[in-house]
Amino acid sequence: MLTLEAIRALAAEFGFPRVAVTDASPTEPPPTDAHPQALSLRADPRDALPEARSVLICAMPYRPYERRPGQASVDAYYIASNRAHESARGLAEAIAATGAKAVMTSALRVKPLAARAGLGRMGRNGLVAVDALGTRVSLQTIVTDLPLTGQHLPAALDPRCQACHLCESACPTRALRGDGSLDIARCVRAQPESAPLPESMRPLTGESLLGCDLCQRLCPRNRDLSEADAPADLADALRLERLLSGDYKDLIPWLGKNNARKLRLMSRAALAAANQGRSDLLPLLDALADMPAPVGEHAAWAARRLRENPPSSDAQTRL
Ligand code: SF4
Ligand code: SF4
Repeated sequence: MLTLEAIRALAAEFGFPRVAVTDASPTEPPPTDAHPQALSLRADPRDALPEARSVLICAMPYRPYERRPGQASVDAYYIASNRAHESARGLAEAIAATGAKAVMTSALRVKPLAARAGLGRMGRNGLVAVDALGTRVSLQTIVTDLPLTGQHLPAALDPRCQACHLCESACPTRALRGDGSLDIARCVRAQPESAPLPESMRPLTGESLLGCDLCQRLCPRNRDLSEADAPADLADALRLERLLSGDYKDLIPWLGKNNARKLRLMSRAALAAANQGRSDLLPLLDALADMPAPVGEHAAWAARRLRENPPSSDAQTRL
């Protein structure tokens, strides 16, 4: 039978330097005002594997991308998460190849499981920090019938948050309540992609096409992490000229099909064009103004803003 040490060695080969284990008992259900995606998650690991006896939480680290003026960006989390998802599937298959039952699942509440397993501590920004890796990790869950000895720690706020409220006070929409929970309706990151963003939020997306990570960028729990340059192929696929022309498919290998959706990327590219003062893109924005919402509405807003606020006086908000 595989030991936890053997699993950790195997996990390292798949790109997961940290693995923690907890028992297969259910977590608390999510709060009733959680994001619809969070509400769809299951609390009981046995829903993924009826014979479940333990749950492995695996952390794959990533470095945030440096943001450069004039360039659109995506939060590096989405790219890491796409990679980690595939690696976790491979790790589960490798464990199963030894005769154990093991299932990789994205259907469970991974953050409470990670904190319970002692992999990291939940912070005021609602994210789990894993020692020196900070919150810049993609967490993946594997449920197994192996009787591994794990931890079952009570939920508690990271002690490093006691005297720190940086994330809470920096959040541009006051989405963080201060106790580690999030008012999801206010979070820029969690807005539905099918509807136009509220006007007050549109300048807050800055140059980002996907995600807002301000509450991670400022967090002292991430102080050991340096930024990396986005790969050249990714940077090219993120060019606003391409995205506003509907040329988005080169982003699928980076982001996965779920995140690289044409209308989502085009609508956010329109906001990024306005937020970066890209008046040179006005002809492309004008050509999109008749498209259905959110693309048409964002493009019309962006064109209006660029015409009303010439780039030199256009204050940009970076997230
Ligand atoms: S910014 Fe401060 S309060 Fe917020 S999660 Fe990080 S350490 Fe905790
Ligand atoms: S992701 Fe952005 S909007 Fe959401 S809580 Fe963090 S700082 Fe606030």
